[in-house]
Amino acid sequence: MSAPCLFCRIASGEIPAAIVAERESCLAFRDIAPQAPVHVLVIPRVHASSLNDVSSPSVLADLLALARDVAQQEGVAESGYRVVVNTNDDGGQSVAHVHLHVLGGRALRWPPG
Ligand code: AMP
Repeated sequence: MSAPCLFCRIASGEIPAAIVAERESCLAFRDIAPQAPVHVLVIPRVHASSLNDVSSPSVLADLLALARDVAQQEGVAESGYRVVVNTNDDGGQSVAHVHLHVLGGRALRWPPG
């Protein structure tokens, strides 16, 4: 059996992370290499490799709701923030467990690189 993925190990508590919020189906923790003053990752507890592989609409809703709640909790809801889901190679995904980036606390440029 292959070893669980990095974010599964964070979800199980095997690997420590700076967890900022938890729900039944998902959790949020600080990115280890923040790209903005607020940079939090939101993941489902159940493994899915990418957004393409999340079959449950309720889990998708939970992920987005938690991203919104994290922005509020981190104090960037009013100033503004961005939710990003890098998907597969061209999307720049480096960890194969679906995750939402919540970025805020500075003006973010558009378009992304
Ligand atoms: P992506 O490139 O969209 O797949 O994003 C993966 C993110 O995971 C990157 O922003 C990394 O900095 C972050 N990351 C990798 N390992 C950890 C870790 N152990 N704890 C928190 N964030 C991590």
